[in-house]
Amino acid sequence: MAETYYDILGVSKNATQDEIKKAYRKLARKYHPDLNPGNKEAEEKFKKISEAYAVLSDPEKRKQYDTLGHDAFTSSGQGYDFSNMNFENFKTTFGDFDIFKDIFEDLFGTGTKTGRSKRASAPQRGEDLYYNIQIPFRDVIFGNEVELNVRRLKNCDTCFGKGGDKSICGVCGGSGVVRQGSGFFAISTTCPQCKGEGEIIYKPCNKCGGKGRFYVTERIKVRIPPGVDNNSKIRVPGKGNDGLNGGLSGDLYIVTNVIPHEIYKREGDNLYVNVDIDMFEAALGGKITVPTPYGAVNINIPAGTQPGQKFRIRGKGVPHLKGGGNGDLYIVINVKIPQVAVDEDRKLLREMSKRYPLANRDQLLTKGRL
Ligand SMILES: [Zn+2]
Ligand SMILES: [Zn+2]
Repeated sequence: MAETYYDILGVSKNATQDEIKKAYRKLARKYHPDLNPGNKEAEEKFKKISEAYAVLSDPEKRKQYDTLGHDAFTSSGQGYDFSNMNFENFKTTFGDFDIFKDIFEDLFGTGTKTGRSKRASAPQRGEDLYYNIQIPFRDVIFGNEVELNVRRLKNCDTCFGKGGDKSICGVCGGSGVVRQGSGFFAISTTCPQCKGEGEIIYKPCNKCGGKGRFYVTERIKVRIPPGVDNNSKIRVPGKGNDGLNGGLSGDLYIVTNVIPHEIYKREGDNLYVNVDIDMFEAALGGKITVPTPYGAVNINIPAGTQPGQKFRIRGKGVPHLKGGGNGDLYIVINVKIPQVAVDEDRKLLREMSKRYPLANRDQLLTKGRL
């Protein structure tokens, strides 16, 4: 009496689908031709267990097999004839056998450990996207929410990102590599049929053309946090391109470019603003009103204030991007000298000037002599 499929897989007649799958997986791992190059015995064994699995893993076929018995079933042509299976042409024999798919995936995984090429069916994270935007200085101080049209690759909702109906590549049996030569001298090369992907799309999806993703333009809201600067990168998680084969989506990065402000100059998180005073204010001191990004404030400047002198207003600079307060605002003094047109004023100033001689010009002349 011939060996039954149950015998071949080493399971009992009452084995569950799970037990059958486990048994096949174990044996396939042992006898797969790719793992036993040039070993005819292993190849024969592999054909046998694949045939047994093809029948027993299909509940309908298994029922027929149980009813008819091994000999009647195999001679009725119900089974799959693996006896002439040709590994050069795996595909035609295996047809679109999805039953082997997860087992082969399991067997070869992502392939990194065994040095195999990366399998297409392995989850792959989507690409990150970078978008440059220009923002006005006001957004640096107060933050903002902007809406952008972002062109990104989205998973196809027709094929669920798979690109279509796939089957294990017939040439390489799903490993993505083929062996040339035999025995000790066999060398592995990337499978020419599937380009190393291990799978072939035999029916590409109509919507995405087999790519698994297509471009969409999405309107995306982005919160600009206060404190951003030129080349700040704002991350919007998951809004890059969608991943492949269930991989995570990439991220979207908004790269900011700040339009320079007319009067506020930025250095780090500090701001500088030039403020004109007249020579009387400079000489006598007093209260002046100065601009800040948060509204005008009054400051006192002391008598004898010099051009270029800076006064710090604490906390009126740019908010720190990471929180915890603000930079400062510096008022940079510029003294404007009036054109004195009235004779009497000129006389007055001349009188005054006698009382305020420049102290150090003589020193300068001495120092300047080489
Ligand atoms: Zn599709
Ligand atoms: Zn292949």
